[in-house]
Amino acid sequence: MREPSGVEGVKPERGRRLIVANWKMNKTRPEALAFRDAFGRESESLGGVEVAIAPPYPYLSDLASPAGGWSLAGQDCSAEARGAFTGEVSAEMLASCGCRYVIVGHSERRKHFHESGALLSGKLRQARQAGLVPIFCVGETLEERREGLTRELLRRQIEAAENDPADAPLVVAYEPVWAIGTGQNATPKQAEETIAGIRNLLAGRASLRVLYGGSVTAENAASLASREGIAGFLVGGASLDSPGFARICRSCP
Ligand code: PEP
Repeated sequence: MREPSGVEGVKPERGRRLIVANWKMNKTRPEALAFRDAFGRESESLGGVEVAIAPPYPYLSDLASPAGGWSLAGQDCSAEARGAFTGEVSAEMLASCGCRYVIVGHSERRKHFHESGALLSGKLRQARQAGLVPIFCVGETLEERREGLTRELLRRQIEAAENDPADAPLVVAYEPVWAIGTGQNATPKQAEETIAGIRNLLAGRASLRVLYGGSVTAENAASLASREGIAGFLVGGASLDSPGFARICRSCP
């Protein structure tokens, strides 16, 4: 597999790592409550990481951490502020339910719901207006990586954030599509190099954290976390199990 080129440059900030659980469309409410109680006990011993949980919308208020052990994230938000958009959830609603973050541009939204760069710009704008920090997802398909198109693809995806205020804190999740839910994670070297390229593309940002996502597990988290520039993880499947997710959090120094 070819590596993207032109990736050396802007040094990452050192800071608390951010580990985000993306539950996608999983768990019933009793299962979500059981996770909250179990993870509440685990969260007392997670060390210095920052944790955010993105449950399905109906459980957002249920998932608030009783002891402030984690923050809440929306899995998506509307590009509209409010009104006659049945089924949509606005960024303002998420903020009013206690969310700090919102995931924007997840590859499953891009693929299954055909979300375009223009739409994602609108979602980013709504997130900012509501005071949420976006977790903006980018990543290439296997074909794009094989054909050496990763850097160009990432550049195009990142264009959606060009009107996002450069002085506002931004989280980007680098999630190669071929690694999401497949059990095949990017190697630490691939993740480090591609994230360095993303940092270069966003060099003007005042505060930027770039997460890695794609088949992160308790087994591979420590070697990924040891690489420069990986500020944390966006975790799908492995975030559904409280002890396993806690082990991922503990793997991050
Ligand atoms: C994700 O949903 O963002 C993700 C990375 O999923 P998984 O960890 O299951 O690959």
